[in-house]
Amino acid sequence: MNTLLTSKYTIPISDELWEQRIYIQQTRTCKHCSSKQYRTITDEKGNSSKEYFEEWSKIPLKEITLYEDRVDHVVAMLIGKKSRLSWDCPLCKSVNLVEDSPISNKKYGSNATFGVVYEKPKWNLAVRSSYDKICMKWLTVFLREIDMGLMAFQKEYFDQHGSGMKEDIRPISHEMK
Ligand SMILES: [Zn+2]
Repeated sequence: MNTLLTSKYTIPISDELWEQRIYIQQTRTCKHCSSKQYRTITDEKGNSSKEYFEEWSKIPLKEITLYEDRVDHVVAMLIGKKSRLSWDCPLCKSVNLVEDSPISNKKYGSNATFGVVYEKPKWNLAVRSSYDKICMKWLTVFLREIDMGLMAFQKEYFDQHGSGMKEDIRPISHEMK
């Protein structure tokens, strides 16, 4: 089925690409600034559109450096510590406390498609009891990706040949009148 799609829409099978695309990013949320985000929505006709929304800035862990921020006397007496573990937001430069900004994972919805599928699970003794199950899971993911590819393919096809197609599907009886 995959080979029916032109190369542009073929779903690559690659563990490496899959890992790159589904990579879950760990972030801390800045309490002082928000940024414009978007998610891509694909409707049942295969049209993709971007939906924008404002959200507290989520900063990837690799862009954050933690440091001990000294606090003044009063605060030090209150919390019983001379410093607090902090980080500076790279976007708004404000100081955030580590205790106020726990690490969270950026997750994808279970129906998200990535235009790629991981390699078919290989059979070995260790997976013999669950092999059917993990193959079914793989197939489900693969079919979902192919489905998306097909929709995108059909959409482009109809965009190009749309008017011609309508002529073709006109009922024969109509022409005979
Ligand atoms: Zn910020």
